[in-house]
Amino acid sequence: MTRWNLPLDHLPSAWYNVLPRLDTPLGPPLHPGTREPVGPDDLALLFPMALIAQEMSPEPWVDIPGEVLDILRLWRPTPLVRATRLEAALGTSARVYYKDESVSPAGSHKPNTAVPQAFYNRQEGVSRLATETGAGQWGTALAFACAQFDLECMVYMVRTSFEAKPYRKTMMEVWGGHVVPSPVEDPTHPGSLGEAITDAVRDAAGRPDTHYALGSVLNHVLLHQTVIGLEARDQFGLAGERLPDVVIAPCGGGSNLGGLALPYYEDTDVRLVAVEPSSCPTLTEGTFEYDFGDTGGMTPLLPMYTLGHDFIPPPIHAGGLRYHGDSPIISQLVRDGRMEAVAYPQGKVFDAAVLFARTEGKVPAPEAAHGIRAAVDEALAAKETGEERVILFNFCGHGHLDLAAYDDYLNGRLLD
Ligand SMILES: *Cc1c(COP(=O)(O)O)cnc(C)c1O
Repeated sequence: MTRWNLPLDHLPSAWYNVLPRLDTPLGPPLHPGTREPVGPDDLALLFPMALIAQEMSPEPWVDIPGEVLDILRLWRPTPLVRATRLEAALGTSARVYYKDESVSPAGSHKPNTAVPQAFYNRQEGVSRLATETGAGQWGTALAFACAQFDLECMVYMVRTSFEAKPYRKTMMEVWGGHVVPSPVEDPTHPGSLGEAITDAVRDAAGRPDTHYALGSVLNHVLLHQTVIGLEARDQFGLAGERLPDVVIAPCGGGSNLGGLALPYYEDTDVRLVAVEPSSCPTLTEGTFEYDFGDTGGMTPLLPMYTLGHDFIPPPIHAGGLRYHGDSPIISQLVRDGRMEAVAYPQGKVFDAAVLFARTEGKVPAPEAAHGIRAAVDEALAAKETGEERVILFNFCGHGHLDLAAYDDYLNGRLLD
């Protein structure tokens, strides 16, 4: 057996909330003007009350609404796969498993939170959502979710990606989304996630029918993603394993990593590993401090590892990992020593991506390939010592719309 599927009725019915279980409670978000803790009313301009409550929820479990479960069931539970052909190519004594989040309609983990976010906004009478997207994954996920709930979807897309990835725009438009390049006010600027967040927040704050949706970083986003780790725990039982020794995922804002890793938070023997690009080394080289989520200084300040809100990362191919900050939850785990962080240059990442594609068959998103690189290195380290290490990583998205990056790699044009 190399693949374990859960029956449809084994989809988790509640999200795992790490907030009340954290050893060190998170500092509150601070108002960008007064620098006082923000209250629910400050956030109500941008988010529905249900999500604001989840952002600060003390409940250890949060029920998933039935309408959300119905949509998640279009592709969930996702498979757990053992990468035996990759193991053989590495000659490792490790057992390597991955959770395949690439099977969603948008091709990544992002619909896991796009769907509940659209649902709660719709429930509170909002008719339009504004958001930003880097590589286009979040924009496609939100456009899909908005189509399910008859919401308008306005996407500000980082200009370099808008120009380099026209098919992502088409995908958003197929689901009825509207897409414009960001920053809207400066057509010569390559853009960044921080800039695009400024555009989207300005849009949402200026229209009573519109809310803002964020695809990562915030506590409620990580909460929604915990279906990944909860399913993986069940599937590990089916696979005859108890717990993984190490859980690995790429980290941009921290949502797919949180989704897979947080349900293992209380299993203190399980190592948790964040993987980031060395060109945007937030966790490995940033400082832990309060910083804005956007470039324009319009969002609340969050306690997190950051490279500074005006940091513009070089245009590496893993667009989803080019964010200056990080989830406060992930940042706190790294600060407390519960989670490790590693950084890789993109050449080594694509070496692992191509090895994975040639053994396991699937072509990873460049973001996902960061996790694969770290999983391969864990498997090689286990080979050195002859250990039976059990490795679990998140295959958080496929790379079918990232083939230009593979073309660069295969033709020697990839810059580290
Ligand atoms: C958006 C994205 C990421 C980075 O975001 P996180 O919130 O850190 O998960 C990673 N991988 C894929 C495939 C993505 O689409």
